Amino acid sequence: MSISGNSAERRDPFFGPYGGQFMPEILMPAVAELEEGFFSAAADEEFNRSVEKVLKEFSGRPTPLTTAARFAGSGKDMILELKREDLNHTGAHKINNTIGQVLLAMRMGKRRIIAETGAGQHGVATATATALFGLPCIVYMGVEDIHRQALNVERMKLLGAEVVPVHQGAGTLKDAVNEALRDWVRNVEDTFYVLGSCVGPHPYPTMVRHFQSVIGKEAKEQFREKHGGLPDLVVACVGGGSNAAGLFYPFIDDPVEMVGVEAGGVGQKPGEHGASLVLGTPGIFHGSHSYLLQDGDGQVVTAHSVSAGLDYPGVGPEHSFWKDTGRVSYCDVSDEEALKATLRFTREEGILPALETAHAVAWVGLNREKLKGRKIVLCFSGRGDKDMETLLRAKSE
Ligand SMILES: *Cc1c(COP(=O)(O)O)cnc(C)c1O
Repeated sequence: MSISGNSAERRDPFFGPYGGQFMPEILMPAVAELEEGFFSAAADEEFNRSVEKVLKEFSGRPTPLTTAARFAGSGKDMILELKREDLNHTGAHKINNTIGQVLLAMRMGKRRIIAETGAGQHGVATATATALFGLPCIVYMGVEDIHRQALNVERMKLLGAEVVPVHQGAGTLKDAVNEALRDWVRNVEDTFYVLGSCVGPHPYPTMVRHFQSVIGKEAKEQFREKHGGLPDLVVACVGGGSNAAGLFYPFIDDPVEMVGVEAGGVGQKPGEHGASLVLGTPGIFHGSHSYLLQDGDGQVVTAHSVSAGLDYPGVGPEHSFWKDTGRVSYCDVSDEEALKATLRFTREEGILPALETAHAVAWVGLNREKLKGRKIVLCFSGRGDKDMETLLRAKSE
């Protein structure tokens, strides 16, 4: 299946008023070189075929479409199809992007790979791709996250990556991004920064969405084969927004309703959730203009979610555009509902969702009545083995 399509033809750095390149002057040449490198690669059939080949042979694509009949409800209440990104190598959609970016780095002659990671999932996906191609990999990670995600730190080290602890700030993802950007400035000659979601300065949001669009392209064709025609609705969880953008984008001009589900956390107050689109306001963060969680002085507020992958105070600029234009509806689901949905879904379908994914699953579950008779594709972004500890703790409370 092709990922070349039309998803990378937009060179415009803006999505309406959102996006752009709000970077220190010193980073502009690096960003410009990346822009040139990406758009020329995306127009190169040979490059696109090389990405497809690795995704197929190494990651196991195409991922299947699985009907979730029991969770959907008895009879013909709803058709619920899961796009099984959890069956990718390393257990989530993140590898679609890291393989694409690492192959691009090699095409651009950059042999030193750097990345940032919060929960460690993007770090593991990047280290997996660099191990495959024999490239050195440096992963910046906040000290607080290193402490919380010891297992993923060890996984990255096993894969040959160097994990650099970041002591600045709160020692979390936001600080790791800043440190990775600092490294990029110093080493732009030979270094490629693999960013983990469709955030950051142009061309990252367009590039990450391009590499993730394989999700929606496959899903569209698979749905047509299975049911004929299009689904009525597609739904995905939104952290930075890459799995959602990857599913949505190939349907964007179709009469298909779209829902993005953010982390509602434990409440609506600042610091209690990760719902940048539902509860945030536009501002500038990590190089682009987009909705984000900030206080009255424009200081970024820490996010909270039971799922580490949705625990980010910003969101991709294209989602901000889709929100304002009404193309996509965004809502949030609480920690508690996500945990409840995880338990029910696992028992009814025999698949343990990642807690991120469980937010989208919970939205379907909570809206069962309203969704009667609808045909739905849900982006099943990842598997939940990584969340066992959190789940067991929540169950015993
Ligand atoms: C990282 C992650 C997410 C959130 O990232 P997006 O860029 O919003 O897709 C969602 N699900 C899983 C399983 C993840 O690992």
